[in-house]
Amino acid sequence: MPDPDTRAFWEATADGRLAVCRCQSCGKWMHPPLERCRECGGTTAFEYVTGSGVVYSFIVQRQPLVAGYVDQTPYVVALVELDEQPGLRLPTRIVGVDPPDVTCGMRVEAEFVDLPGGDFKVPVFRPAAARHALTTLRPDQ
Ligand SMILES: [Zn+2]
Repeated sequence: MPDPDTRAFWEATADGRLAVCRCQSCGKWMHPPLERCRECGGTTAFEYVTGSGVVYSFIVQRQPLVAGYVDQTPYVVALVELDEQPGLRLPTRIVGVDPPDVTCGMRVEAEFVDLPGGDFKVPVFRPAAARHALTTLRPDQ
């Protein structure tokens, strides 16, 4: 549920955009959001990010234990590291790919889906377009 610290995140997802908390002094991104930067104590605000990143880690949920997702098992729950900053990771689901085909390091892009049973949109990630993946895999060419 949105609260004063996360309201801007949910407002952005409702518009189909991803916004992450960022220090207005040193520029460090942080998620989950904080009122003050843990590095420099500066004030923070939400800024839009590209929604591109890589799968940092993941599990395959095979047990139908989570309401709203019972009919979607198996599905992938992942930490996606966003391109904006090393270590800036978002817990999410990976969609549009069979769970056995998900790999750490896979390039992914955000999209937004309705939260089952709620009035919110949540970010999920799907494999990036092949053109983008080739660029990333072979940056020297
Ligand atoms: Zn800072």
